[in-house]
Amino acid sequence: MPPSPALAHPPSGRSGPDTPLDVLRRVYGYAAFRGQQAAVVERVMAGGDAVVLFPTGAGKSLCFQIPALCRPGVGIVISPLIALMRDQVEALKQLGIRAAALNSSLTREEFAEVRRAVARGELDLLYVTPERIVTPGFQDMIGGARIALFAIDEAHCVSQWGHDFRPEYRELGALAELHPGVPRMALTATADPHTREDIIARLRLEAAEVFTTSFDRPNIAYDIVERDQPRQQLLRFLARHKGSSGIVYCLSRAKVEDTADWLNGQGIRARAYHAGMDRALRDASQDAFLKEEGLCLVATVAFGMGIDKPNVRYVAHLDLPGSVEAYYQETGRAGRDGLPSEAWMAYGMADVIQRGRMIDDSGAADAVKRVERAKLNALLAICETPGCRRQAILAHFGEAHGGQCGNCDTCLKPVETWDGTDAAIKALAAVYRTGERFGAGHLIDVLTGVSNEKTVRFGHTDMPVFGAGKDLAAKTWQSVYRQLLAAGLVSVDHAAYGALKLEPEARAVFRREREVRFRKDRPTAGKASTGRGASASASAKSALQGGDLALFEALRAARLDIARELAVPPYVVFPDTTLIAFATERPASRSALLGISGVGQSKLERYGEAFLNVIREHRE
Ligand code: ADP
Ligand code: ZN
Repeated sequence: MPPSPALAHPPSGRSGPDTPLDVLRRVYGYAAFRGQQAAVVERVMAGGDAVVLFPTGAGKSLCFQIPALCRPGVGIVISPLIALMRDQVEALKQLGIRAAALNSSLTREEFAEVRRAVARGELDLLYVTPERIVTPGFQDMIGGARIALFAIDEAHCVSQWGHDFRPEYRELGALAELHPGVPRMALTATADPHTREDIIARLRLEAAEVFTTSFDRPNIAYDIVERDQPRQQLLRFLARHKGSSGIVYCLSRAKVEDTADWLNGQGIRARAYHAGMDRALRDASQDAFLKEEGLCLVATVAFGMGIDKPNVRYVAHLDLPGSVEAYYQETGRAGRDGLPSEAWMAYGMADVIQRGRMIDDSGAADAVKRVERAKLNALLAICETPGCRRQAILAHFGEAHGGQCGNCDTCLKPVETWDGTDAAIKALAAVYRTGERFGAGHLIDVLTGVSNEKTVRFGHTDMPVFGAGKDLAAKTWQSVYRQLLAAGLVSVDHAAYGALKLEPEARAVFRREREVRFRKDRPTAGKASTGRGASASASAKSALQGGDLALFEALRAARLDIARELAVPPYVVFPDTTLIAFATERPASRSALLGISGVGQSKLERYGEAFLNVIREHRE
């Protein structure tokens, strides 16, 4: 294994070991630590344990990488995703860091080489899977080596409560006894109290300091629309993001494939990803998403964990996720680089019914089902809120936000509300009079006076509620029932095929003791849903104009050439943020390049000249 150029030669004129700040500047090319990073690093440098709960994009990786580089010995990183280890290791190598991953795809020789490097103390970071780390073979391999720290990435996988439960994570608590005195860190972007308690208890991190920051992702714009013509709505949304990469989530595998095919037919480059696909095809989709620019990845939730592509510009949901936690995790994959990005969702009543049925059919204990239903309802309430989405989302995680974020659909285009007490009473009466045995579709037929086979057969055409809601459109009644559901005034009985039932709270509405206000639905068809139009396209380029934009494109082309040659994703060479700074600041020398955020010593040596040339050509 070659010695690390960045670490083997400390800058001349200095002696002694590097401080974390030296490493941050020289290796990564960043000027300062962000937020709580410095505090975490300090804690681990002093030998303490840490639980790091930061949102995606906050910079968790540096929290373990830098102490691993500064402390003697190898830092061992436990990561659940073999498929992504290679890219992670490659990115570290580009920084001049001596990193390796131990996984089943290694040849015998490669394996032996890693083993030797560990024994000789020639590795800075070693990535392993949770299955492997507790095996006697691996423990034997690191037995004689000096260990800088253990970093357990995606630590929420330890919790059954979360959505990515991995039983192997449970075994990791054993590291406490196997390696006393070695600092242990757990890192995740999932912060709900249950998961956090599980992490601390299961990973034996009772003595750890817990670091948290705000979970707000101010660069992500939220937009939630009522679904009426999903494909056209999706097309209009994607038109705002031409040339950018993003993810479109669908609930089912079939829908993933149909949607991807259809998008390709519409001239939008899309690929499918789901767990039922042939392994090689699936990997090819993931690889294309990481390495190409401007690709739309249509996927089930099987895709996404650990994807650290920084310039995912949008995440679209064509179906409602099961909880606010899942929604936030999935949308959080956008905008890791801090540049403007968009989270868009189209949903409808059918989603609520379908999700509810999934919970009922899950075979889980009743208590678990109750919790799942409550989680679903919390998300529905966010979808139906007339207030700021960001405020509602953060409130769900126990974080206060003043609202009026100016970067969600309800802030940008405030929704009107209307006094819905009369409508609510009619809607609830329709549920009651028909015996709490029917779904929203039939109830709306009754309210609007549709005489059809079903309304006639059940004698509903003869009831006083029949036609009592003619004053409002069927679409408005759909919205009314969704909002009654979100407000907990009715519930869905999945055992009775989605029949609506009254909740005790409904009584106060019947008695007019409780006033009901509804949000007015917006017209959807044919109009841009947020009112921001295409200008909000949130692309990295939006800040660039004229000659700067031309230079940025040239730099991007140069980056793609280098990335192809190395078979790495372009962002491993430099992220967009660094290229944007090149285009606007136009550094003309090596030292000027070093002054740009994201340019460290190793990358300067590797690519400095190539990018300087592109910048020079544009000057002439
Ligand atoms: P997380 O793992 O928390 O989602 P990452 O570790 O991937 O976040 O970091 C997100 C992005 O922010 C990366 O491109 C990273 O290089 C960058 N970054 C992290 N810390 C800093 C810093 N102190 N200064 C500038 N950029 C940083
Ligand atoms: Zn808002």
